[in-house]
Amino acid sequence: MQIIDPYIQVEKIDGKKIMRNIERACRTCYRSEGKITEDSYKTLLKNCITRGHESVLEHEKVTIRMYCDLGVYKDITRHRIASFSIESTRYCNYGKDKFNSELKFIKPCNIENGTDFYKIWENTCEVIEKNYIEMSKLGALPDQLRMLLPHSIAAEVTMTANIREWKHILTLRASKHTHPAIRQLMIPLLLYFKEIMPEIFEDVEYDKEFPKEKYAKLTQIEEIY
Ligand SMILES: Cc1cc2nc3c(=O)[nH]c(=O)nc-3n(C[C@H](O)[C@H](O)[C@H](O)COP(=O)(O)OP(=O)(O)OC[C@H]3O[C@@H](n4cnc5c(N)ncnc54)[C@H](O)[C@@H]3O)c2cc1C
Repeated sequence: MQIIDPYIQVEKIDGKKIMRNIERACRTCYRSEGKITEDSYKTLLKNCITRGHESVLEHEKVTIRMYCDLGVYKDITRHRIASFSIESTRYCNYGKDKFNSELKFIKPCNIENGTDFYKIWENTCEVIEKNYIEMSKLGALPDQLRMLLPHSIAAEVTMTANIREWKHILTLRASKHTHPAIRQLMIPLLLYFKEIMPEIFEDVEYDKEFPKEKYAKLTQIEEIY
């Protein structure tokens, strides 16, 4: 059994290029392409966002990959305008050599290691793994095995959304009203987007009281696929 911290990977993107592409698309509306300068996108985007002319943000998309628990992807896949590919508990048999005959669980960010709650959580995972492997050895299929899996089971998720939908998702999912395991991933992603695309994301609020030491590690990678 492995207990793993969640993480997030973002395809290497050029925030300024994304914003300038959106500007070019948007200027079609006013046929004001001639007004494009090195940083004219800044004012244009701010004006669009303030006035609710947000469909222009749909021209660009960002793909991420995250390693998270089932509870996170159960909630995040409610966002219908995003696209998802998720490691399947119907096709992956973790009892096989390919998966080292073990289960991987995401460390819960809201149950402190060393506490009685954590011990109970860890024991439960151990029992689940033992029974999963036993059933797998007896010939159970992944469709049957997955009936044993809890919210903490780990999965890799590839997720793509356009910039407008990311703004919407992060507004909802970096807020204190959302489950801490989602905030743990979405706050660092939002902070990254704020850094590279400030004109678009600067007005998105987030739970500033969420402990920074619990933020999921975010890395940029050259090729996401
Ligand atoms: C704090 C919190 C608690 C939640 N609790 C629950 C819960 O207890 N039970 C539960 O079932 N869900 C719950 N949800 C999920 C929530 O109801 C939404 O399904 C989810 O957040 C997706 O949001 P969305 O529909 O705005 O966004 P998306 O699906 O990402 O869509 C983006 C936007 O497109 C528009 N849109 C998309 N589809 C339609 C449509 N069919 N008709 C009209 N407009 C559309 C809307 O403007 C929408 O905001 C919760 C979400 C949050 C953030």
